[in-house]
Amino acid sequence: MLELGRFRIHLVSDGRFAMDGGAMFGIVPKPLWERHVPADAKNRIEMSLHCPLAENGKEAVLIDTGLGERLSEREQTLYRVDRHGGLPARLAELRIDPEEVTHVVLTHLHFDHLGGAVVRNAAGRLQPAFPRAKHFVQRAELETALHPSDERTAGAYGHAHECLEPLQRAGLIEPLDGETAITPQLRVVVTGGHTPSHQCPVLADGAESFVHLGDVAPTRAHLRPAWNAAYDVDPLETIDAKKRLLARAAEQGWWVSFDHDHEIACGRLSPQWARTGELSDAHPL
Ligand SMILES: [Zn+2]
Repeated sequence: MLELGRFRIHLVSDGRFAMDGGAMFGIVPKPLWERHVPADAKNRIEMSLHCPLAENGKEAVLIDTGLGERLSEREQTLYRVDRHGGLPARLAELRIDPEEVTHVVLTHLHFDHLGGAVVRNAAGRLQPAFPRAKHFVQRAELETALHPSDERTAGAYGHAHECLEPLQRAGLIEPLDGETAITPQLRVVVTGGHTPSHQCPVLADGAESFVHLGDVAPTRAHLRPAWNAAYDVDPLETIDAKKRLLARAAEQGWWVSFDHDHEIACGRLSPQWARTGELSDAHPL
């Protein structure tokens, strides 16, 4: 747990999974990335599904929702999914009722960020997992997820419409157009790069700020500007967004939070972050 002004930030996770290391590091040769993240016999690297939850007694802000229970048995084996009850179990351990969550901020709508926004009820129907929360996503991201233009895009979103439909029916989606202040302490910065309208939430209270990097820098190793995933639709935009956002975070001592680092939930950037991806004050998952 981290304290930020009046907020307590719980570094909770929906569990772990594994993805192809080559795909996660794009053009970076394996001998370089493997020094940072070991690959298994099938070349997969371990990834977390960190979804930080910030609460101050009045508001509870959840950032991304993990995989949830959306994957088939076959996909769970393929992605080596290991959830142990996932996010719902972690929130129950903290005695946080899903009904208390007031805001869900989705960095983007790929299957490993949106899946936990819905749960299956006793009748087998998908329903919102956080029924009182407004869900904030860029309007253009919503369009891309609902109407993917090609097979590559459709694969990454993995039936997003099935998750979005119950949220839309309940009136819980708040589409955003660009950089927006959601509350006086919470805003989103649009980065693009990974998806055309990927956004990073920034929570600022008192003198401290916390930014969740989503898939712009999914792990510590991806802090290096040129180390980007092959999934990024515009890697040059990712590089640009990383340089701008991370330079600011380093200068002002912000906490930076990772979606998929297998060991570290968040930390502060060291002065040589762009060369070494090094952190200070690292908090383990
Ligand atoms: Zn992801």
